[in-house]
Amino acid sequence: MSVSTNHPAQSVVSTFDVHDPATGAVVGTYPVHDRHAVDTAVAAAHEAATWWRDLGFAGRARHLDAWRAEIAAGRDELAHIIHREMGKPVSDAKLEIAMALEHLRWAARNAEKVLGRRTVPSSLLTVNHVATVEYLPLGVVGVIGPWNYPVFTPLGSISFALAAGNAVVFKPSEYTPGVGLWLAEAFTRTAPAEPVLQVITGLGETGNALCRSGVGKIGFTGSTATGKLVLAACAENLTPVLMECGGKDALIVDADADLDAAADAAVWGGLSNAGQTCLAVERVYVHADVYDEFLAKLVAAASRIQAGAADSKIGPITMPKQLSVIRRHIEDAVARGARAVLGGPEAIDRQFVQPTILVDVPEDAAAVTEETFGPTLTVAKVRDMDEAVELVNRCAYGLGGTVFARRNGRDIADRIRAGGISINAFVAHATIPALPLGGVGASGFGRVHGPDGLKEFTYAKATTRQLFPSPLPLTSFRRDHRVDAIVDQLISVLHGRKRQ
Ligand code: NDP
Repeated sequence: MSVSTNHPAQSVVSTFDVHDPATGAVVGTYPVHDRHAVDTAVAAAHEAATWWRDLGFAGRARHLDAWRAEIAAGRDELAHIIHREMGKPVSDAKLEIAMALEHLRWAARNAEKVLGRRTVPSSLLTVNHVATVEYLPLGVVGVIGPWNYPVFTPLGSISFALAAGNAVVFKPSEYTPGVGLWLAEAFTRTAPAEPVLQVITGLGETGNALCRSGVGKIGFTGSTATGKLVLAACAENLTPVLMECGGKDALIVDADADLDAAADAAVWGGLSNAGQTCLAVERVYVHADVYDEFLAKLVAAASRIQAGAADSKIGPITMPKQLSVIRRHIEDAVARGARAVLGGPEAIDRQFVQPTILVDVPEDAAAVTEETFGPTLTVAKVRDMDEAVELVNRCAYGLGGTVFARRNGRDIADRIRAGGISINAFVAHATIPALPLGGVGASGFGRVHGPDGLKEFTYAKATTRQLFPSPLPLTSFRRDHRVDAIVDQLISVLHGRKRQ
C-alpha cells in the first residue's frame, strides 16, 4: 500500500487498486476514505486555513514558489507516475507539468494585485464615504479532479485557491491517486507543520462526502454527468461550485487557412493524449473549397500516429469503460452512412484505439453530439463560415474551439459560443496564465486561471467608512419633506424628469 503523510489515516475500511492501463498490472493500492475521514481532513484544514490566510500574499507566495521548485525538481518522478497511472507518454506528462507550473507561478505573483484591498469611487449621494473592496478566502476549498490531466487540471483550481488564501482538501480521480499524493507531499515539504493541502483518496463516494463536508467551495473538474451529482450534493449545504465539465470542441478551417498548420493542429488536438482531453478537437468543419486538400493532409498526418508501441506518441485509453463509448460512436456513425477514411470499428484493440477519421457523419449522430474521449475526429464539409458557426454552436457543450483562417479568424471566433477560442493554433488560450478557462452550457460554469480564477475562490467584501456626516440625512428617520424634495430634484437632474 502506498504510504502518505498528508492524508487522514482514520476510518479506512477498504482499499482500491490502480492499474497501469497499458498492461493491467497493479501499480498502487490506496485507502478509500469514508465520510468520517473526509470530515476529519476538512476540520484539520480549517485550522490550517487560518495560519495560511494570516501569512498574507507575500508569505503564501514564498511557499507557493517553494512548492513550484519542488515540483520542478521532481518532474521526472512525477511524469513517470502520471505515465504509469493513466498511460500518457512521459514526454507529454512533462509538458503537462510545465504548463501547470506556469499557472502556479502566475497565481502566486498576481494574487495581491487581483484580490488585495483597493479603494473605489463613491457616488454623488454617498460622497461622504470612502469605499473599499477586497477578495477574501473562503476558508477550505474542496477540489475534485479528473485523471486525464492529473496535474494541470486540479492545479488549475488548487494553485489559485491556495494563492487566494484557502486551505485545500483534494480528491484526485481513482485512476490517478498517486499523482495527487505526490503533489500534496511536495507541498507538505514546504510547510510540514500545517495541513494546508491534503489529499483524500477513494471512489465517487469519497468525492460525495467532500461535497457534503461543509467546505467553502468545491472546485470540480470532470464529466458533465458527475458534475450534476456534485451540484446536487453541494445543494445540501448551499456550497458553491466551480464546474469545469466536458466538451465537444470543434476546429474550423476557412478557405484561406494555412492548411498544413490546420491539419497539424487537428491531428494534435484530436489525437494527443489519445483524445482524452476536455478541449480535444472532436469535430472539424472545413470550407468546401479546401475540403479535399485539407482532408488528404489530415489523413496523411494522422496515419503516422500509432497507439500501442513502446515509443508511441499516444497511449492507451485509461478507463476501460470508455472503450464501449468510443466503439458505440464509431459503429453508430458508420451504420448511419459515415465513412471511416482512417481507422474505424476495427481500430479498437484491447485498451488501444488507433486514430480514426470519420466523414459524412450525420450531424445528430452521437459521434458529433456527445463527448467521445478517444482518438477520433469527424470531418464535415461546409459551404461557408456561416454554416460552420451554425453547426459548431448547435452543440450543448461550449468549452473551447479552434479557428484556422487568414482574413476572418477573429470574426469567426467572435461568433462561437464557448469559454475560449484559439485562432491559428490549438488550445493556446488554456495555456496563457492570465486568461480565464471554463465553459458555457453543458461544459459548466465558473473559471480557473487568470484573475477570474483567483476571484473564483474568494468572496468579495465591501467596506465603507463615513468621513463626515451627510448634509442630507438619507438613511435616518430625521429625513424630512425638505430632504425628500432635494432627493426628488436630484433624481431629475441625474436620471431624467418625472412624467407629467
Ligand atoms: P468523472 O466525472 O468520472 O470524475 C471526475 C471526478 O469526480 C473524479 O475524481 C471522480 O472520482 C469524482 N466523482 C465521481 N463520482 C462522484 C460523486 N458522486 N461525487 C463527487 N465526486 C465524484 O470524470 P473523469 O475523471 O472521467 O474525467 C474526464 C472528464 O473530465 C471529461 O468529461 C472531460 O471533458 C472532463 N474534463 C474537463 C476539463 C475542463 O477544464 N473543463 C478538464 C479536464 C477534464 P472517481 O474517479 O474516484 O470516480
